[in-house]
Amino acid sequence: MKKYNIALIKGDGIGPEIIDEAVKVLDAVAADEDFDFSYEELLMGGCAYDMTGDPLPKETIEGAFDSDAVLFGAIGGEKWDNLPREKRPESGLLRFRKELGVFANLRPAVVYDELINASSLKPEIVKGVDLMVVRELIGGIYFGEPKGREGDKAYNTMVYSKMEIERIAHVAFDIASKRGKRVLSVDKANVLDVSQLWREVVEEVAKEYPDVSLSHMYVDNAAMQLIRDPKQFDVILTGNIFGDILSDEASMLSGSIGLLPSASVGSKIGVYEPIHGSAPDIAGQGIANPIATIASASMMLRFALDENRAANRIDSAIKQALSEGYRTKDLADFDAKEICSTSEMGSIIANYAAKCKL
Ligand code: NAD
Repeated sequence: MKKYNIALIKGDGIGPEIIDEAVKVLDAVAADEDFDFSYEELLMGGCAYDMTGDPLPKETIEGAFDSDAVLFGAIGGEKWDNLPREKRPESGLLRFRKELGVFANLRPAVVYDELINASSLKPEIVKGVDLMVVRELIGGIYFGEPKGREGDKAYNTMVYSKMEIERIAHVAFDIASKRGKRVLSVDKANVLDVSQLWREVVEEVAKEYPDVSLSHMYVDNAAMQLIRDPKQFDVILTGNIFGDILSDEASMLSGSIGLLPSASVGSKIGVYEPIHGSAPDIAGQGIANPIATIASASMMLRFALDENRAANRIDSAIKQALSEGYRTKDLADFDAKEICSTSEMGSIIANYAAKCKL
């Protein structure tokens, strides 16, 4: 029997509650697959600072490298907001991503038929949306040098090397070749030199994927098209800052931030996490929606462990729970038949996943 070592980083706020539910579901599917999990809990964020004085202790980086994949909840909260920047939970997370070299952030945005009324857009616009944003995560303007402040000026630099563009483009084309076979590269090549290089390199990489089509769009148009006609998209490939904004925009198509998973991958260990934060306003109340984290666990099975059947079982269990009308409080107003707690929702999905034979 295969044994996968999963590093669990529960973090702060609702992090521990939602990770516990994802583990429940993972164990439920593993029960009749030919693999098993062992879990190691690692500290990151405010809780790590409280216990060790460092939001990212070195044991956490070592533990992550010793694992097959990292399942992460969320970090942060007001309690730590006034610490010096390098001690804050968010600094720990940025450092963690950099240390692991996770240069690609994958954010699927799927609109569940059962929640069609939860979207802020009209049902006919969002029905059937199934897109993936592939965002470059550790380069571009968030990391470029020089940056700083001088007198009454401040500046940041958007830099990409050919290598950085090539590797993220390969991720996007690989994913598209297993989905709808369309990549849309988003840039601002009419204004930015760095975007012109981006376009040239993406065109070159595309030649290696003859069965995937490539098109380009300026970021301002892409932001508009995502609202006008989101069904036109399959895989959106873009840089760090454009991807940050577009993926948050895309996430709102689905109706609740509590539904959306993500994966951050590189050449080694991947990090699988919900797109939302630690939601301190609802922490400890048992009302957080665990679906984004459970769906992140499914992405982990698919992308890190190549256990596609198990991932499909989880995805279909989530859909079943929603179509039976089970809702956590964030979705209570949308065709709910029964409102459940975080832990009840985890158990319902675990139960469906256990019964689902694909
Ligand atoms: P947030 O995503 O934590 O919460 C935004 C709103 O969405 C809140 O009203 C919250 O209750 C709700 N929400 C979030 N997740 C939910 C879920 N699973 N179920 C139901 N409702 C949910 O964003 P914020 O309030 O801006 O940030 C709170 C803290 O989280 C901050 O310290 C921030 O720095 C941190 N943060 C961490 C991450 C991360 O760990 N990856 C990401 C974003 C924000």
